Amino acid sequence: MKDLLPLLLIPLAAGFRRNDFAAAAPVSNNMTDHHMMSDAMPSDDMMPHTMPPTGMAPNGVTPTGMTPNGMTPNGMTPNGMTPTGMTPTGMTPNGMTPNGMTPNGMTPNGMTPNGMTPNGMTPNGRYQLPPLPYDYDALEPYIDEETMRVHHDGHHRKYVDELNKALSKYPRLFNLTLEELLRNPNRLPSDIAEDVVNNGGGHYNHTFFWQIMSPEGGGRPDGNLSAAINRTFGSFDSFKNTFKETALDLFGSGWTWLLKDDSGNLRLATTRNQNTPIPLGFRPIIALDVWEHAYYLKHQNDRGAYIDDWFNVVDWDQAEELYNM
Ligand code: MN
Repeated sequence: MKDLLPLLLIPLAAGFRRNDFAAAAPVSNNMTDHHMMSDAMPSDDMMPHTMPPTGMAPNGVTPTGMTPNGMTPNGMTPNGMTPTGMTPTGMTPNGMTPNGMTPNGMTPNGMTPNGMTPNGMTPNGRYQLPPLPYDYDALEPYIDEETMRVHHDGHHRKYVDELNKALSKYPRLFNLTLEELLRNPNRLPSDIAEDVVNNGGGHYNHTFFWQIMSPEGGGRPDGNLSAAINRTFGSFDSFKNTFKETALDLFGSGWTWLLKDDSGNLRLATTRNQNTPIPLGFRPIIALDVWEHAYYLKHQNDRGAYIDDWFNVVDWDQAEELYNM
């Protein structure tokens, strides 16, 4: 893909493979008419198990058709709920399972429980802006509150809205995961392919970006990721310098990535605009948004100062988890 500019510090492994981290999420893998919500079958333990109570008339039914405790003969309350507050399919009235997950294991904002695979599907089958995992001012003084508000509520929301708009022309595409949409953009309908790459990529990249920052971030990694960084770059400081130079060298707008390939080796890469590393098949470990909208309010044109500040909020614990997946 011509817009991907991998800076390969290590020779490429043979071939591109499906991104491993898609496999970590309970994602849909087909393009059938299956709808994620309406066809989802609950497990047996979600089904009502307490049927009509004892102490009823011979047929257990009052003249109104209700049992004495207000249940209909089939064990439902008049509004169609089971006594436990579930609908007959085991869903709560808002379409969630009792633990707050959608039937495919996604949280309401479309994230898997570990928050790292932005499938983005919602109960109504549309993508939704995930909330920030911390307050807008939580990354102060390194990333300012105003930037976070504009970036998340403005820019990220626009990507989500535009992605939904593009896919609405081909609603069956909502059955694919975001990774599936972005992995082979040449298979998308040609009239929406560019919009899906730009806006789906924007949704994917920003969802990842929020997750890889934390008010408790900064410092340096330890464990396996630290060892891999030392092995690849010589030292953590050398890695930081190389990452910074890579981000500074990116002309225009885009992203700088630390990726893990199939052999466990680390690579640096940049992607232009909102392109993602998904087509490469390498797992993102950390990513830096180097669009001016990510830093201009605070750092103006000093991208280097933004990068230095950003390293104070990188969530290395999260990065380590991703590396170990
Ligand atoms: Mn951005």
